[in-house]
Amino acid sequence: MMDWLQRFMYGRHGVDQLNLVMMLAAIFLTIVENFVRGPVFFLLFALAVLLFVLVVFRMFSRNEEKRRRENQKFLTIVQPVTRWGSTMRSRWRDRKVCRYFRCPHCKATLRVPRGKGKIQIKCPVCKTEFIRKT
Ligand SMILES: [Zn+2]
Repeated sequence: MMDWLQRFMYGRHGVDQLNLVMMLAAIFLTIVENFVRGPVFFLLFALAVLLFVLVVFRMFSRNEEKRRRENQKFLTIVQPVTRWGSTMRSRWRDRKVCRYFRCPHCKATLRVPRGKGKIQIKCPVCKTEFIRKT
């Protein structure tokens, strides 16, 4: 039954991170559209349609090489955001056992075990020493 679909998608690009994000953005815009009027509405509407068209175009594209490069470029651009997100996640996970300090000299973020009282911390980056309560 799904044979024709498999045959149809064969050699086509399909879904990648860029498509997924554009799709979510388009859905988000479609929701926001309901709360605005006038030129803003048409702007968002046009943007959402454009995104949907791009998603469909990239999904069914047979130019795998080019689509892969687009996705790679996209991932490189959003890397600071995803890295910040994973840092925040691990901070939240370790919040009971670790404290985070910022080096007063080079601003590097340092991770220190919690509950050790007042300790001297040495920055591994610039070797500056400072005292903090953990
Ligand atoms: Zn430092």
